[in-house]
Amino acid sequence: MNAPLEDSHGRAVSYMRISVTDRCNLRCTYCAGEGMEFIPHPDILRYEEIMELIAMSRNLGVQKVRFTGGEPFVRKGFADFMVAAAGRFPDIDMCVTTNATLIGDHVKGLARAGIRRVNISLDTMDRAKYERITGRDQFEIVRANIDRCLDAGMTLKINAVALHGFNDDEMGAFVDFARTRPLDFRFIEFMPVGLETGWDDSKVWTAEEILAEARKHADLELVSGDAQRRRGPARMYAIKGGLGRIGLITPYTDHFCATCNRLRITSNGLLRTCLFSDKVYRLRPALRHPKLGMPFVERIIRAAGKSKPIGNDLLKLMRAGQEGVCNTRMASIGG
Ligand code: SAM
Repeated sequence: MNAPLEDSHGRAVSYMRISVTDRCNLRCTYCAGEGMEFIPHPDILRYEEIMELIAMSRNLGVQKVRFTGGEPFVRKGFADFMVAAAGRFPDIDMCVTTNATLIGDHVKGLARAGIRRVNISLDTMDRAKYERITGRDQFEIVRANIDRCLDAGMTLKINAVALHGFNDDEMGAFVDFARTRPLDFRFIEFMPVGLETGWDDSKVWTAEEILAEARKHADLELVSGDAQRRRGPARMYAIKGGLGRIGLITPYTDHFCATCNRLRITSNGLLRTCLFSDKVYRLRPALRHPKLGMPFVERIIRAAGKSKPIGNDLLKLMRAGQEGVCNTRMASIGG
């Protein structure tokens, strides 16, 4: 292994999020919306190229890879690719973020290949509201697929974007869902990422408000020590007498930049060092160049990783009315 990648703030980069497509079969209003323009197919990284990027990332000290999108399972052959990647890199913690509409037929194969950690996005417990926010009537399928994943022994994190005026009246149902299933149900504060996604301050249902509301429905106990640290950026609470837990992810009100260990690669091969920055480093030209290739890509990633910013500083600029936040939709970046 080459020297591990450390940024100028002393943070070791050990986590790579790789988007395999910018296409999605849902149209969540706050994320993709209708009328998105998609990246032309020739510009999307091929699976072999992604494999090489993972191999190189491992040399940089990356221990965890999460595939995301768009919706990863929309891309042809994704499940097979993930199984192959897990087989080739057994020492890398390989996981996926999905809306779980298309995972159903792949659950058993993924579990057999040792892929056990799946994040599923679900913002509501109400079928009509699901259709309203995603533009598609897929709620029952997602619910069934969550249970399929649990039956296959997978470790699930369900992620809900917390939105005032949309799901802030559903805490009872969210808590019941987590109480009766062995999973982590995590609320993510709505982030100012992407133009035309309707973000504004008044829609951010903050973690403190969420916690106060959740406490009305359950006896919650803060998870402590190692178990808490292993949960990544989420602050986790056990539900007393329940199977699952509730979590809070606070990119807006209480940033976790000091421990941020991740880089993102978009489906067309742009490296992003922070979700709140539009700065990109173009990997694809080097990757496809007959002479430059992977050694040059590695040099770009090392240089970019070193200048990974503190996202909260960029948020502060935004609050002060200056530029400094990401205008690209999450669906294009890979959430
Ligand atoms: N299609 C997959 C899915 O649904 O999980 C992966 C991609 S999606 C962009 C990843 C996550 O980003 C989803 O949980 C989505 O809710 C979240 N997301 C998108 N826009 C967001 C925003 N502005 N603030 C917070 N979370 C957002």
